[in-house]
Amino acid sequence: MTVIPKFYYEIFDMIEMSAVKKGKFCRVDYSGYPEEKDYANHVATLADDEIPKVKSIHTGLDPDKEITFKFERVTGNVAGTGGKEITLNLKYLDDIKNAYGDRNKDNGCIIHKISHAILMAPNPLTNKFWMFEALADYVRHMRGYRREDAVGAVKMEGAYPHYEKGNALNPNRSQVCAHFLLYLEKSQPRIVKELVNELVSNSYDETIFQRLFNGKTLPELVKMYEDKEDKILEEKRIAEEQRIRDEKIKNNLWSRLFAAISGFFGRIRKNK
Ligand SMILES: [Zn+2]
Repeated sequence: MTVIPKFYYEIFDMIEMSAVKKGKFCRVDYSGYPEEKDYANHVATLADDEIPKVKSIHTGLDPDKEITFKFERVTGNVAGTGGKEITLNLKYLDDIKNAYGDRNKDNGCIIHKISHAILMAPNPLTNKFWMFEALADYVRHMRGYRREDAVGAVKMEGAYPHYEKGNALNPNRSQVCAHFLLYLEKSQPRIVKELVNELVSNSYDETIFQRLFNGKTLPELVKMYEDKEDKILEEKRIAEEQRIRDEKIKNNLWSRLFAAISGFFGRIRKNK
């Protein structure tokens, strides 16, 4: 019987544990998660397809540098980005699978992270943090990666730009920030390119809004946006109230008609 030295087993283990899928514009390092080979291939294919498309929306610091994906399994965050390295949380992706039946229903979270990695502008964690988040979910939206609310056995909030009062500049509500950015873009189509230039060159200050929006400050723009959205919500509320009233009147008419017909036939039966 041939005895294989323990040393060889250790090498086999190392080969098994260190696993990398090399893409054209990215690499997916799934070391430590050999069972995730198929998902690593999926991430590489998706990222190779999307990276040039995201770059056509916005550029960044060293935008052509290869992006590295890694996996982790932790409770809490969706994923993380540090420079050109993106860490995807397998625990979160499994939560997506539980709610939607398929991890790929949240391919959009990968697009969001690709936007961060391409932008890689300095000092994100300051008063401009909301813009990094707005931009990432703006890109996700422009690339068509909407995720609806999960309303089945496992509930989960969806991912799509929407309005929430008071959250236009709240980086923890990135989809609301993206909704505000989409509003700004309607009256100033250059907003995304101008903001990205200032973020990347680290020359950003809030006067950019006055320059691009006829002297309007950022708080004034937020106020205009919220007034418009509040008005839309109010109109929807009034229309819904009217619909419920109309429905009640209609049901009332039917029930009175039904009562009149039954009464009529009741009288006929009695007279027989
Ligand atoms: Zn983000």
